[in-house]
Amino acid sequence: MKPIKKLLIANRGEIALRIHRACHEMGISTVAVHSTADADAMHVRLADEAVCIGPPAATDSYLNIPNIIAAAEISGADAIHPGYGFLSENAKFAEIVEAHGLIFVGPKPEHIRTMGDKVEAKRTAGALGLPLVPGSDGAISDPAEAAVLAERIGYPVIIKAASGGGGRGMKVCNSPDQLETLMQQAGSEAKAAFGDATVYIEKYLGNPRHIEFQVFGDGNGAAIHLGERDCSLQRRHQKVLEEAPSPVITAEERARMGGVVAKAMADMGYRGAGTIEFLWEAGAFYFIEMNTRLQVEHPVTEMITGIDLVREQIRVAEGHPLSVTQDEVHFAGHAIECRINAEDPRTFAPSPGLVKQFHAPGGMHVRVDSGLYAGYKVPPYYDSMIAKLIVYGTTRERCIARLRRALEEFVIEGMKTTIPLHRDLIEDPEFAEGAYTIKWLEEWLARQEA
Ligand code: ADP
Repeated sequence: MKPIKKLLIANRGEIALRIHRACHEMGISTVAVHSTADADAMHVRLADEAVCIGPPAATDSYLNIPNIIAAAEISGADAIHPGYGFLSENAKFAEIVEAHGLIFVGPKPEHIRTMGDKVEAKRTAGALGLPLVPGSDGAISDPAEAAVLAERIGYPVIIKAASGGGGRGMKVCNSPDQLETLMQQAGSEAKAAFGDATVYIEKYLGNPRHIEFQVFGDGNGAAIHLGERDCSLQRRHQKVLEEAPSPVITAEERARMGGVVAKAMADMGYRGAGTIEFLWEAGAFYFIEMNTRLQVEHPVTEMITGIDLVREQIRVAEGHPLSVTQDEVHFAGHAIECRINAEDPRTFAPSPGLVKQFHAPGGMHVRVDSGLYAGYKVPPYYDSMIAKLIVYGTTRERCIARLRRALEEFVIEGMKTTIPLHRDLIEDPEFAEGAYTIKWLEEWLARQEA
């Protein structure tokens, strides 16, 4: 057991605040790091100490490993939490942190590395007994071989980058005559975006849902699942609204599939929080990837289980066993998260700027995770997500009613935000029924334009 006394948060915005809050509730002091553009940010103001680690560009600050390690050494931190994005899935960073005698609040570096390579991840998932999307056995580069494979699994197929992420580096191919060209395009785009041209092929599922399981391991062979989240509402493969539980998964199916993923994590000796992402179609699950970090949408799981995932991450990093057994995990009620971005709700053009008014909704079962305050200037250099609104209800229907009320109350003035989009979206009868797939939101947006 190695108790953490001071933790450096290698991130910014709402997730830096989220981690700070868990730390203070556990009696751990916090060190914020920030770029020059974030000197006035809320995560800097609330932390016990703050260290500037570079200029605005993320490559020079939030991705600057030497400066982050130096900040930890100067401040005497004994642990680093990477949040999500930035360095959170960088195995090299996790190794460097540990080589400096610091605790990395995250998985073992080798697991980050395995799951970060999507080809390797698929192979590992298959070996651990998770159901896969039919496709190539690994990387594929020979067009002739690809053509034979695509014929066998059937068109359409999707060409994906082994190092891909954030929905980038994917090409859907509908017929044999496009295959070679699209493979080349996917490869060169992947090379440009991720420095790795490796691609693989899988069956393109026509109209699936995106359903992911939250898992937790203690690193010593014990693992549990905390149920699923439905993240099918996406625009350009980016999640917009997430909910737990999924409207289409029964308690029996949750227990069965959750058991499969928990066993896989136990067999792997996985440590900390992770998410196993599946596509779900006609009652069947197909593994697509694993995220070896905390997810943006983790609060919906917290709402329905009552388990603080960041606290659990920190406890596991300190060497504690998991705080609950599978039998002690109880699912109650329904939770929905809306991602609120500083973007035009119609064109999605970024809209950073000065926050003139800020009023967050409140009341029973309403949670707002955000670093905004009136007078704060949203910098243009980073992700456009400025707040998350998370609402709980005993049933999905009551959750939506509360969400409607909370969205009515939410005031952010000075910039365009996606609040109006969420207000409209939750009024759609198909949304109310939970009858949507990963294509639904883009079709809905197109209907709004028409
Ligand atoms: P990334 O790491 O870039 O997020 P994922 O593999 O998680 O990539 O896929 C992101 C999204 O792309 C999925 O949520 C889904 O919408 C779509 N997608 C990925 N693979 C397939 C597939 N085989 N068939 C249909 N859609 C897919």
